Amino acid sequence: MPRLRVCALYPDLMNIYADRGNLLVLRRRCEWRGIGFELTPAGFGEEIDPAAHDLFYLGGGQDRDQRLCAEDLVATKRDVLHAAADRGAAILGVCGGYQLLGHAYELGAEEIRGVGLVDLRTVRSDEPRLIGNVAVEVELEPGDRRVLAGFENHAGRTHLGPGEQPLGRVLAGHGTTGASGFEGVRRGNVVGTYLHGPLLPKNAWFADWLIRTATGLDELAPLDDALETAAHTLARQVAGR
Ligand code: GLN
Repeated sequence: MPRLRVCALYPDLMNIYADRGNLLVLRRRCEWRGIGFELTPAGFGEEIDPAAHDLFYLGGGQDRDQRLCAEDLVATKRDVLHAAADRGAAILGVCGGYQLLGHAYELGAEEIRGVGLVDLRTVRSDEPRLIGNVAVEVELEPGDRRVLAGFENHAGRTHLGPGEQPLGRVLAGHGTTGASGFEGVRRGNVVGTYLHGPLLPKNAWFADWLIRTATGLDELAPLDDALETAAHTLARQVAGR
């Protein structure tokens, strides 16, 4: 039986805006299709095996929560995450988790180090926080343009290095810096985004992309997505798209 093995990093701490709901969506969409689902939480000091998980997930958090887990993340999980990314595992970071996928989150003189899976830096700004509903156009497979809809709330402005690609183009909302017109980052199977909501209940198609990418399954059985489609449509409507 195919299965999806998920490692949730600091699920209690990095769970702002109910980001843990993303895990529930992955579980249900696997179980409804007869795909096994295994969830392993990884907290402070816990070692993880890069080969034992297909998808690594790090949700959003306030600066304080990020500060608490960043040191442990770098000390005990950084190398594992690099090894996992090298072997093609999927890695999803949301908001604070997205920021920690990069090199650092700078708050004035303080620097919270990230795992450096992608070449990006985040700088906390004294300007107003970037808050509101967002719609982003993404093209994860060539020629297949889709919309991710969600909600953003961040003080950090994330700047991608020259070799990095954003996850998508902002149709509505602020995005990664508030001025670049782009949102998130994608390098292979490593994805970072500012979108909460949580993200996956509003974008079931993206949950399926993650399941396919992480498991290597070519096709997934279709589901009755009437409610999920309604949630997606409403999220786009509130974002004005
Ligand atoms: N603390 C970070 C910021 O404000 C991320 C916030 C979040 O995860 N919503 O930029």
